[in-house]
Amino acid sequence: MSESKWLVTVDKELCIGSGGCVLRAPEGFELDEARQSCPRAEVMAASEAVLDAAENCPVEAITIVEEGSGVVVFPTLP
Ligand code: SF4
Repeated sequence: MSESKWLVTVDKELCIGSGGCVLRAPEGFELDEARQSCPRAEVMAASEAVLDAAENCPVEAITIVEEGSGVVVFPTLP
């Protein structure tokens, strides 16, 4: 994976607190007191684990945008 940086957000309206993203990418996500996922940082290094977490979120609550270019990494267009 490149050395690009990602802006990672979680839509709390969608997040059901399954914890899947925390298991897949504990360096990228944590659950808050309300059992909702929060990115550990607003900007983080691109990583397969974070992308894997976004791809496997059951409600597609995670969005990844490449910092600088603004290219949407996830969700990808169908
Ligand atoms: S995998 Fe999705 S629904 Fe589950 S805690 Fe993470 S963001 Fe929320």
